[in-house]
Formats: sequence, C-alpha cells, structure tokens
Amino acid sequence: MIYNAGNYDVIVIGAGHAGCEAAVASAKLGASTLLLTMNLDSIALMPCNPSVGGPAKGNLVREIDALGGIMGLNTDRSRIQIRRLNMSKGPAVRALRAQADKKLYQRLMTILLERQENLDVKQAEVTRIIVENDKVKGVLTRTGAIFSCSTVVLTTGTYLRGKIIIGDVSHEGGPNGQFPATELALSLKELGLNMGRFKTGTPPRISGRSINWDKLIEQPGDKGPLNFSFWHDCSNRPNVSCWLTHTNETTHKIIRDNLDRAPLFSGRIEGKGPRYCPSIEDKVVRFSDKPSHQIFLEPEGLETEEWYIQGLSTSLPEDVQLHILHSIPGLEKAEMMRPGYAIEYDYIDPTQLKLSLECKTIKGLFTAGQINGTSGYEEAAAQGLIAGINAARLLQDKEPLILKRNQAYIGVMIDDLVTKGVSEPYRLLTSRAEHRLLLREDNADLRLGFIGHEIGLLSDKCFKKLEQKEKGINKGIEILKNSHVGSQNESIQRILKDCKETPLKNTASLADLLKRPKVRYQHLADYDLVPKFPVDVASEIEMIIKYEGYINKENMQVERLMKLEAKKIPDNINYRSIRGLSNESIDHLERVRPSSVGQALRIPGITSADINILLVYLEQKRREGVVACAG
Ligand SMILES: Cc1cc2nc3c(=O)[nH]c(=O)nc-3n(C[C@H](O)[C@H](O)[C@H](O)COP(=O)(O)OP(=O)(O)OC[C@H]3O[C@@H](n4cnc5c(N)ncnc54)[C@H](O)[C@@H]3O)c2cc1C
Repeated sequence: MIYNAGNYDVIVIGAGHAGCEAAVASAKLGASTLLLTMNLDSIALMPCNPSVGGPAKGNLVREIDALGGIMGLNTDRSRIQIRRLNMSKGPAVRALRAQADKKLYQRLMTILLERQENLDVKQAEVTRIIVENDKVKGVLTRTGAIFSCSTVVLTTGTYLRGKIIIGDVSHEGGPNGQFPATELALSLKELGLNMGRFKTGTPPRISGRSINWDKLIEQPGDKGPLNFSFWHDCSNRPNVSCWLTHTNETTHKIIRDNLDRAPLFSGRIEGKGPRYCPSIEDKVVRFSDKPSHQIFLEPEGLETEEWYIQGLSTSLPEDVQLHILHSIPGLEKAEMMRPGYAIEYDYIDPTQLKLSLECKTIKGLFTAGQINGTSGYEEAAAQGLIAGINAARLLQDKEPLILKRNQAYIGVMIDDLVTKGVSEPYRLLTSRAEHRLLLREDNADLRLGFIGHEIGLLSDKCFKKLEQKEKGINKGIEILKNSHVGSQNESIQRILKDCKETPLKNTASLADLLKRPKVRYQHLADYDLVPKFPVDVASEIEMIIKYEGYINKENMQVERLMKLEAKKIPDNINYRSIRGLSNESIDHLERVRPSSVGQALRIPGITSADINILLVYLEQKRREGVVACAG
C-alpha cells in the first residue's frame, strides 16, 4: 500500500559518515530535512578500522570542522587514543590520527542527529528515487511510504547490491550482518546512471582476553592538547595504547598454501579493491620478498573486548583465518569474535557529477561518500558535508559551494572524482594535492572558517575565536618583521646559545632569527621579545615565518593556475564544432563537460594542444560577444 508520508526540502538517504554530515548541514542551513536510514542502530557505523585521520585524511577532518561540520568534534568526544604523525617530516604531511570508541562515536552522533533542529531521522529502506522530467520529486520506501522533496542526497556507502564474501561462502548483505540495498541499485541503473563495482575488505576481530600482550610492542598515544576540532578542547579523553606485532614465514606459508581457496585469486570477487588497503593475501603475493608485515592491534572501544587487527584484512576461509591468527606472535590462542570478509558493492561513476556533487542529468540529485567511488570515513564525511550544503543552497537559489584545489583537500578530492573519475576505490593522499604546503592540517580554520561562517554553518561563537586567532597571528608576524635586534642583545644571544645556533653578529629582524631551524617562537616569548600567545597562534606564526619562502612560491604557482580556472566554459558549448580537436579529446570533454579551462586541463587524455585550441576558440567567441569570459 503506497501512501504519502510527508514533504521535505531535502531527503538524505543513509546515515553513514556522509549522510550524517549532509543531514546536519542542510538542516542547519534552514532546509527542512529528513534522514532515512535502513537501521537506526547503525548510524555512523565504523565497519572497518576504529581510527579517524592520518595523512591527508586528518586534514579532511579538520577542514570539515573548520566549515562547521561534525566529524572532528564527534571524534574528539569519542576518542580513546590520539597521535600526531610525521612530526619528523615537513608540515605538509603532519597529521592527527585518533582511535575512536566505535560504540560511543555512534551514540554521540545519534543523539546529535536526533536533537538537530529542522531534522527528522527515520528508519526505512529507500527502494526508488522518484524523478519526473529529469528532476527529483521524492523517494519510495520498501514499506510503501512516499516522501516528496526537491532534493535528495544519496549516501548509501557499501550497501548498493552489497555482497559478502568469505572463502567459498558468499551472500547478499551489507556490513556487520545488515541488509543490502539491491532494489535501489537497480532503480539507479534505470535512471540511466553509469554504475561500477568495487570491493573492500576488513580483518577479523579477536577477544582481548585471548591475546598474549607480553609478546607485543606497545604503541602509546601522544600527550598534550591535541584535538581535531578547532573550537572545542577534549584533551581530557583517555589515551589507551595500540599494540604492534608481525606476520612471519609461517603465516605467509599458510596463505600461499590456501591461495586456491582465496576468492581474490579464484575469481569469486569481481569488484576492484583499494590499492592502499590491500588484503594480507594480496600483500603476500605482491610483496613476496618481504619476510613479514606489520600488524597493529587497535581497541574497538573501552567497553568491549573486541580488538581490530590492522593489516590483516582478508576474505580467506574462516578456518584459514584462524590458522593465520595463531601463527602470529601474541595471537597463538586468539579467539576470533568476527571473521574478516570482503564486500562488493555498486558505485556510480563520479564523472556524472558537477563540482557541487549534483548529478548532471538529474536536477536535485546529489551523491556523496563511498557511492562516488571513494574509500574512507573521512572522504565520505567531507563529500556529505559539501552535498548537504549544496542541496540546501540549490533550494535557496544560492551559488553552490565549490572549494578549489588550492583552498582545501576537499576541493582536491571532489575535483579528482568528477574530472578524472575512478578505476579503483579512491583514497585521499597528500601526494594528490599539488599545493599541499598551503593545505596543512594546522591552518584549515584560517583557510575555511570564514567560508563556513559566511554560508551560515559555522557559529558566531566559533567565528569570534577564529577572528581572535587571526588577529593574534597578524600582530605576531608584524612584530617579528618590524623588530630588529643587534649582537649586543643578551636575550637573543642566550637563546641562540641554548639552541646551539651561531651567535648573532649583525642586526637582524626577529623574523629572520625565528627562521633559524632550532629557534622557536616560545623562546622569543619566554624572553618577552614578542607577545605570549596561545599555542595554536604561536605555532601558526612560527609555521608562516619558517616556511615563508616556500609558501610564497606556492602562492605564485596558484596565481598562475587560477588564471586558467577563471576561464569559464559555457555549459552549452559544442565541442564537435571546434576545429582541431581530435575525436578522442572531444569524447573526454563531452563526458566530463568541465566548467573551466583549468578543469579541462586535468581531464586524463586532454593535451596542452587541446587546451590551446580551446583557449583560441573561447577568445574568438568572446570577441564575437557569444561568451563572456573573465580574465
Ligand atoms: C568491510 C568494510 C571494510 C572497509 N575497509 C575500509 C578500509 O580499509 N579503509 C577505508 O578507508 N575505508 C574502509 N571501508 C569503508 C568505510 O567504511 C566507508 O568508506 C565509509 O563508511 C563510507 O561512508 P558512507 O557514508 O559513504 O557509507 P556507509 O558508512 O557505508 O553508510 C551508508 C548508510 O546508508 C544506509 N543505506 C544504504 N542503502 C540504503 C537505502 N536503500 N535506504 C536507506 N538507507 C540506506 C546504510 O544503512 C548506512 O547507514 C570499509 C567498509 C567496509 C564495509
């Protein structure tokens, strides 16, 4: 029995990491929002590792927080360990990584959603998106409810035609024993969307009571006020340890002896897996020269005995998984609580999306998260935030929020997806960002906080804090650059001596002295040579001064590239009418329909010769007054 169940501005399908961000963002921006998800008890489920952050992913979480999103704070409030990674390397690759208490993460997220103004949260499986004249009109659920709306944000993760595979056993299913979303997958195909098939995998979980801790290497968390959120301090959270062990030749022999039963190698798995999260059987085959692989034991929470075995993702048969576990030092008597498995699922080809994450062929349909071919909680949450913001802004006739590659990792990721597409699950890496020194995790608030406030997502209270920080940074830099000291300044000479730096011979600005490798801002503040500022302000001043040369060089490169970004390409351009373009290039341009020459330049297969032809054509049209091109 089909019935009308209500009308909303925005309907978000799926309460995973993308859906939670999308729903809260659209509700906060004033759109009446409905979040429909198959199981209210699996809101913000972490089906894989209980960790958030790391290189590039940590930057994403801080960017989400800077814009007014929720993942950063929810992680801080539920974390049970936090570490700063790559501190011995340059600032562009330093990142926070936290272990979250999975159940607490879900509980905090669920209550946040349930109490969000303008947002209703309901349990239902959506089986169809109702589209009329290429425009979204509503959704239909398995139980016959029709909810009408103007925009839909689809964030169904790894559930579309989900298939679980463990050895020679496979069955339709979502993660952690949940239903798959098979009917919806078929209806998306009927809507004409190009779909692909990916896979990902997870390791077994074992009981902490069955682990011999004496054989493992402890990996404690880091001390100090470390938070993903710029706006809240949660540094009084527990900081438990992870533990390290290794596979060995015995483990590898067990795997090699059972490769004929491995779905990955027997062809039972058709979906393409993530290169950067390979299964153990894949690692043993691909890196056969390596005698052992690192295995990290990560706690799933404080109120559970379940431990996650990082590095042992597998879809080998259960009995083989047990042999593998028992061959690893410390796990000889491991009790397996959940077997590892692989999951195959459908995703949509993201080149069918605009940079706003709206579908090019169906107005009002936005997609975000794993459904767009990415892998990772952080990647999903970032897309969800942007899709939720833009779904609300579409209704309010406002320009979509599109972050550029020099503004945010979010911009890099979305541009990569819609311009280059995916051939395997896309995971964000620092190496994907050409301007990564500008996109550090420590300055995400300075890069994006103003935008978050301007669009109405970041609160006035947080914005005030940001203004304070920026004022402090500017003041500190001004004092450093305009204060000069000579060789007779005792404080400076003492600082340089303590830092084992060469003594000062001539007059120098404090900024020049801070550029010396071992001199820290705190040293100058301790001698009252500069004002004392909070840690986050002082470290930002130090970063800007010490890397000034590199940052300026990066900014000049950005300026050059922005010229091509500013060259807009009209939506209705007919590439077949442009003489000199090869059929292959026309196909690429027609498929992606880039919005700027800069984006066209990044389409795989487009040459600089193509770009020159396009630039000449656009200039001709501009002169004929057919197109208005800036710059
Ligand atoms: C087995 C496994 C292993 C993984 N391993 C890794 C890894 O090693 N590294 C990594 O980075 N990431 C890994 N991931 C991926 C990570 O879990 C996802 O990237 C992340 O959860 C994606 O978030 P999402 O919001 O896109 O979707 P999900 O978190 O999958 O959430 C989707 C939500 O949509 C709901 N839903 C689906 N269909 C419907 C429907 N028709 N109607 C209503 N609700 C619906 C579901 O109930 C769920 O709540 C793994 C995932 C799984 C399942």
